[in-house]
Amino acid sequence: MIHSEQVGEDICDIWAVCKCGYDPTETNTLHRLEDVWGGTDDNNCRDAIDCTWNELLKCEG
Ligand SMILES: [Zn+2]
Repeated sequence: MIHSEQVGEDICDIWAVCKCGYDPTETNTLHRLEDVWGGTDDNNCRDAIDCTWNELLKCEG
């Protein structure tokens, strides 16, 4: 699942969360994709998943 959240005036974070609800970026937002508009089109979704994929793999839920 892809989440997008505005975190500043001109910046949004986009990141992927496991289907079980596990959020690998909850304590480390460095793995989130930063984007000015926070759009969740195909490109941004793919990049966001790329950013968090290694962390998501650690989830055993
Ligand atoms: Zn999980």
